[in-house]
Amino acid sequence: METTLDIPKYKMNDEEEKKEILRKYRALLRTLKSKLKPGDKENIRVAFEMAVEAHKNTRRKSGEPYILHPIAVAMICVEEIGLGVRSTICALLHDTVEDTDITIDVVKREFGPEIARIVDGLTKIANVLDANTSQQAENFKKILLTLTDDPRVILIKLADRLHNMRTLGSMNREKQLKIASETVYVYAPLAHRMGLYTIKTELEDLSMKYMEPDSYRYIALKLEKTKRDRTRYINDFIRPIKEKLSQSNFDFEIYGRPKSIHSIWNKMKKKGVSFEEVYDLFAIRIILNSPTEREKEDCWKVYSLVTDEYIPAPERLRDWLSNPKSNGYEALHTTVMGPQGKWVEVQIRTRRMNDIAEKGLAAHWKYKEGTTEENRFDNWFQQIRDMLASQDTNSIDFLQDFKVSFLAEEIYVYTPKGDVKMLPSGASALDFAFAVHTMVGEKCIGAKVNHKLVPLGHILRSGDQIEIITSTKQKPKSEWLKLVVTTKAKTKIKDSLKEEKRAIAEEGKIILHRKLDHLGVSMSQSNLDEIATYYKLNSSLDLLYDIAVRKIDLKELKEFQVLGDKISAPKIIKTLVEEKSDVSHKNQNKKDTELIIFGESSDKIMYTLANCCKPIPGDDVFGFITQGEGLKIHRTNCPNAARLLSNYGHRVVKTKWVKNKEISFLTGIKIIGLDDVGVINKITNLISGTLKININALTIEAKEGLFEGNVKVYVHDKDELEELVKNLQDLPGIESVERYDTE
Ligand code: MN
Repeated sequence: METTLDIPKYKMNDEEEKKEILRKYRALLRTLKSKLKPGDKENIRVAFEMAVEAHKNTRRKSGEPYILHPIAVAMICVEEIGLGVRSTICALLHDTVEDTDITIDVVKREFGPEIARIVDGLTKIANVLDANTSQQAENFKKILLTLTDDPRVILIKLADRLHNMRTLGSMNREKQLKIASETVYVYAPLAHRMGLYTIKTELEDLSMKYMEPDSYRYIALKLEKTKRDRTRYINDFIRPIKEKLSQSNFDFEIYGRPKSIHSIWNKMKKKGVSFEEVYDLFAIRIILNSPTEREKEDCWKVYSLVTDEYIPAPERLRDWLSNPKSNGYEALHTTVMGPQGKWVEVQIRTRRMNDIAEKGLAAHWKYKEGTTEENRFDNWFQQIRDMLASQDTNSIDFLQDFKVSFLAEEIYVYTPKGDVKMLPSGASALDFAFAVHTMVGEKCIGAKVNHKLVPLGHILRSGDQIEIITSTKQKPKSEWLKLVVTTKAKTKIKDSLKEEKRAIAEEGKIILHRKLDHLGVSMSQSNLDEIATYYKLNSSLDLLYDIAVRKIDLKELKEFQVLGDKISAPKIIKTLVEEKSDVSHKNQNKKDTELIIFGESSDKIMYTLANCCKPIPGDDVFGFITQGEGLKIHRTNCPNAARLLSNYGHRVVKTKWVKNKEISFLTGIKIIGLDDVGVINKITNLISGTLKININALTIEAKEGLFEGNVKVYVHDKDELEELVKNLQDLPGIESVERYDTE
């Protein structure tokens, strides 16, 4: 795979290199020019020279001098995020404290406490991210802590990540997968949440390029091929609107913008349609130069002109003028019926709104200066700080929770009095109750949405009005955890459950105390831990609780050894044996082990194929060390891949397939075509006759002249599967042939 990605090999002599560095540095200064105040240039120069000196002996994986990286990151900060002089200095220095002898004190002495604090924040992030033994979720939490200190830390970090993604081609495949999945899982949503739409889109596209190179190339090629037709269509669409806007004396810009490869791919997957069937491959954007006081009015006037020309789909009107998104996004979106009966999305916004959409937070600040408007980011940051303060530090669900609570799209709902509450999409009535007040959540027995009674888990939609019904007798239940998505609700429910558990555990304490007295040992923590471990429980609280509810009866305590005040569990190899038999049971065939090689060496390890994505030899895969189930092989485009890779990157093992024709794998193929006499015969003849592939099961369903066939076959590897798919596609009357994962 690496060979097909474009990696420019770096070849320059020292003199050329120096010139290149200076050229890039001067370009940076030029871009900053309008923001430079007296003395700034000198400060930047000092930072630049400091960074040059610090990185003078280092090179990047691509072979180029390391200093080009901080310069590029600074350039992204200025040009693409709209940050200023101080951020430029921080970006230039962002890797110095981490990688070289320069200390934070030196930075502080030279540039003052503000810059030192940001560089320190960036350094901490680098530290935690490089320690591959600790969990990435834990690291991310630290990023958030520094983020809420100063948002510029995260903006510079995003610039850093963007440049690393742009230059990812020179990394090895394993690193590429890890970084790309982390990017799509955490950084792209973060960029989105900060309002940096352009950067978010590029991060997603770049991640996809590495995680699903085939699909990426496929769509990129299709876009290229259809470009001319699209441009012609866009021009036809725009022409009458342009005339109308000019007649009405608007100062405007109008153009068609292709949607990103990643978002097209998402649509194809979500709706199960082909590239040709994705109707919104592009959007039309109208940008107005309107004075602040007329912004809203002008946008609606333009909306009216557009919908005079083309008929709108009423359910697809999005008004983010009256209710901006919490990341600051404002615009009016509508979808109209264009020429040739095609649906086209039109986005209407002003220059100011466009700046905010593209540069997010930084632009927001620019326009906020001198006004007293409350910063909606302050609100968001405060919520994150609250969450970090209340979270269990060892929660593995943290990243997932955070994503749902803070990075998801949001909905607006109303209290009976008409107050607006913002919740992540997917939030339930119970989430709403907890958002109103913890007490309301804990006592909630039901809700009325738009005056209709609904269950607690009812999913809310934008615009709903919710009334919560409470009862003093109600208390949180463990099932509630499945009904909520917000961190606040989850945390509060867990807290309350824990309290109840503790009360129940008291009884278990008395029982255990009696038993231990009998053995002549005390209730010391180490004794409790020993017993808890024996029963495979996570904590002594779980142990006491399980004793109280009679889940364990402590019979086995008799077999414990007593040494002074200490007891120790009998050393039975039972657990080991169990695990072993478990693994070999799942490896139905011992020869399997010879199919995959891990890492660089030719070590052969036991593994199982993940059930979620059913890899077959030849698929792009990675190995994942599970807890208790040994190594599992997943496809890199497995629905779980991004989550696994970004949460547990350190548990990922490089793998490659080895040819083996003795074992075959079950996989499914879905065939759609015209319902013709003898079609089943043709298909089965091809599969088992011509290609000599074994069929495990075959179902055909015919409806209104079309048939859908599901065939389960045994293939040896991806090549064989692809050949089969190709041959099937060539049969007359076949519409589509697709692989699917068998259950
Ligand atoms: Mn860096």
